[in-house]
Amino acid sequence: MPASLAGTIEGPTGTIDLAAVRHNIEVLRRHAGPANVMAVVKADGYGHGAIDVARASVEAGATELGVATVGEALELRSAGIRAPVLCWLHAPDAVFRDAIAADVRLGISSVEQLRAAVGAATDTGRRAEIDLKLDTGLNRNGAALTEWPALMAEAVDAETAGSITVRGVFSHLACADEPSHPSSVAQRAAFVAGLDAARMAGLSPPVSHLANSAATLTRPDARFDLVRAGIAIYGLSPVPALGTFGLRPAMTLSAPVIMVKHLRAGDAVSYGHTWTAKQDTTVALLPIGYADGVPRALSGRIEVLIDGVRYPAVGTICMDQLVVDLGHNRNAVAVGSEAVLFGGQEPGRPEQAAPGPAAPTLQEWADLLGTVHYELATGIRGRVERRYIG
Ligand SMILES: *Cc1c(COP(=O)(O)O)cnc(C)c1O
Repeated sequence: MPASLAGTIEGPTGTIDLAAVRHNIEVLRRHAGPANVMAVVKADGYGHGAIDVARASVEAGATELGVATVGEALELRSAGIRAPVLCWLHAPDAVFRDAIAADVRLGISSVEQLRAAVGAATDTGRRAEIDLKLDTGLNRNGAALTEWPALMAEAVDAETAGSITVRGVFSHLACADEPSHPSSVAQRAAFVAGLDAARMAGLSPPVSHLANSAATLTRPDARFDLVRAGIAIYGLSPVPALGTFGLRPAMTLSAPVIMVKHLRAGDAVSYGHTWTAKQDTTVALLPIGYADGVPRALSGRIEVLIDGVRYPAVGTICMDQLVVDLGHNRNAVAVGSEAVLFGGQEPGRPEQAAPGPAAPTLQEWADLLGTVHYELATGIRGRVERRYIG
């Protein structure tokens, strides 16, 4: 039994519930079908651990994996993951040879990248599998509409010469998290036009893909043959205003209480003495701080859940520590009690056994900070030890 299930964790812990990941893949498959689901595990699985999340996703029916860089793709291969992998963000000196040798599919956004891939394919003596990326209005990665004809022409030549196979064409939406944003309609139209142009040019890519998590869950017209789902597989809603879509947060961040002390009315807490006890009280110390990914800007603004009760964090969040006000400590919180900073549920605590307040969510933190949960999930780091359940 993982230590967290026994109620004793030694330090800050990120518990990743792989059963939740599998459940979320199933939710996405229901929405995407008959399109396939790519599980996007870039940035170390959005801070959840790319390898374990990739394995769980494939088990649950994701047909392929997506990452940003060749390096991230090769890490999956080094871990023995054999599922198809696409990577799409390349430095000028990208190690395409290693990617092709490891059977990693390349997302190609420019003629220069295509030439590099052709050269690497020639060097390795293998055909490179390629998905061509069209920029339909995000104006970030992807070939501009004006460069698309030249990219297609070279791709046709390279395919005829036998150095590449164009497996797919893809693009990425700018405002899918605002389901009625007109740009999604315009981007979809540009994408369809780009696909038509590819066929006219002599390419017959079997797989086209446009949707991210938000579009998968809200835009049936964006699903095509494959969807690229990231944030939703971690159980975080891509459109918070529309609810959870039945997704289950996979990560629970917790830390043990390592000290409990009594304060007198008028005693102040932590750097800058920004919080002062109004009455005699009891406080608990947690060994987690901004070096671990709990933003200092949340000082005095968050709560933690200990044994089913929410307590406010008080005073400045430090690099390694934060302090929680237990008040009269009626629940006898003690050294060794586990505090949940955010998460679906306390690890090891069945949902039906916890009728009290729920743990705070990453969405609450994101709202307080005016950011997105993506940034906070990928920011969990430092001493936080990952533990997998489910
Ligand atoms: C990160 C990324 C995704 C996944 O987006 P989510 O909003 O996390 O679902 C899909 N496609 C591309 C190109 C990406 O960079």
